[in-house]
Amino acid sequence: MKLIEEPSELESICSKIIEQNKSIGLVPTMGALHRGHLSLIKRCQQENDLCIVTIFVNPTQFNNPEDLQKYPRDLQGDLEQLSELQPNYVFAPQWTDMEPLYSSARSIPLGELGKVMEGQFRPGHFDGVTQIVQILFQLTRPHRAYFGKKDFQQVAVIRKMVEYLQWPISIIPCEIERSESGLALSSRNALLTPDQLKDAAAIHQILTEAKIKVSSHTPQELEQWIAGSFSNTNLELEYVSIVDPLSLHALTDWRHGATACVVAYAGKVRLLDNQVLVD
Ligand code: AMP
Repeated sequence: MKLIEEPSELESICSKIIEQNKSIGLVPTMGALHRGHLSLIKRCQQENDLCIVTIFVNPTQFNNPEDLQKYPRDLQGDLEQLSELQPNYVFAPQWTDMEPLYSSARSIPLGELGKVMEGQFRPGHFDGVTQIVQILFQLTRPHRAYFGKKDFQQVAVIRKMVEYLQWPISIIPCEIERSESGLALSSRNALLTPDQLKDAAAIHQILTEAKIKVSSHTPQELEQWIAGSFSNTNLELEYVSIVDPLSLHALTDWRHGATACVVAYAGKVRLLDNQVLVD
């Protein structure tokens, strides 16, 4: 495992790998690694000749300065976890070295996909995400890139970006890893108090219960039921939306892949989760 800080070094290493006709798999992260990230890395290692993990807290995707400032960072701990898996390269650059690259990223017309849910509540978020992912894709030119289904809308956005740019990169969505309580693992969980950690388990409990109610409710009725269930918890629901998995349009009738997407706050910590309701 080799640690790289310089974007130009990463670019030249990847060029050489590509010349050798070896496949590159990329796992972009913001660090504070947990089992969810590790599952992406393991899959990437299985499916590619070389695996590159990136650790970079991209400031342009944070619409809230306090969220950026508080975002957990632990490069040393991350490297210790990675040393067990031994990806070939870990790219952990400094902002000053990355900043000049942002002008090379194109603006992606995301349409509705960028306006609903996270796009509505975190204005500019997906502009930042598409910037940094383009920069990482340009530096590494991966065959496959791995993203967690926890960030459900992000997967759809990145797929649309790659399609728009006509870049030959397979976007591989990976299953959500959860704690024993069902809470989706997230770097932000480190910011929860022990009580909030218990409260946060309600998110997955409510979504699991919602799935059982599909046959007796319309999507809108089920959104209302989910919202009502959150009002009986210590969490504050920001939004619930039951959407088509590709277009992310809110559904009025049930269809294959219908997914409930939820954001709820435990105190000041913003928690994101989703559940497929119709398999
Ligand atoms: P982040 O460091 O939060 O930007 O996440 C980096 C990647 O890991 C993203 O593709 C996330 O969707 C994915 N990820 C985060 N949490 C989980 C999880 N609990 N299970 C699976 N993938 C995850």
